[in-house]
Amino acid sequence: MLILDCFFGKCEKPTCDGCGLVPVRNLRRALKARSMDAGDDASDEAWKKAVEQTLAGNSQKSNTSKPMRKKRLLVPREEIPWYPTIKPDLCNGCGDCKVLCKPGVFELGEPDPTGVQRPKLVVGHPYNCIVLCDRCVPICTSGAITLPKKEDFEKYVEYLDE
Ligand code: SF4
Ligand code: SF4
Repeated sequence: MLILDCFFGKCEKPTCDGCGLVPVRNLRRALKARSMDAGDDASDEAWKKAVEQTLAGNSQKSNTSKPMRKKRLLVPREEIPWYPTIKPDLCNGCGDCKVLCKPGVFELGEPDPTGVQRPKLVVGHPYNCIVLCDRCVPICTSGAITLPKKEDFEKYVEYLDE
């Protein structure tokens, strides 16, 4: 059903322009934004909880929000290969990653020459990615975004609040 496709970010229409379901898309993004605010380790659980709270009419921010930990990088950012990868075959061009990643890592890719599909997203600015952040992984309900293993990157970071 189209409304559920929109809500779960699975719509395959080539654009949202002029679509009457834009409010549904906006709700989906608001829910995902709240899920991301739940902390560094936003997970499927945080996303589900945000959905349940909103559907129950509780528009207050989750009280599970965790403060961002203060970190310092131990080498220049360009020497740390921590950034997401998008699997193009799974990306449906919903754009949620671009809208919700505040550092601006994602960019629109090339338009589909046939005009049938939305442009897929690409990792346009990998070194804008915050080392050890993984918030975009659970908000991509298509499972298109992957990140390296966190434990391999802890060596590049010093926590200032310990
Ligand atoms: S990577 Fe995921 S969140 Fe980003 S546009 Fe593609 S499907 Fe949507
Ligand atoms: S992991 Fe990187 S790309 Fe993903 S939301 Fe965080 S800063 Fe953005």
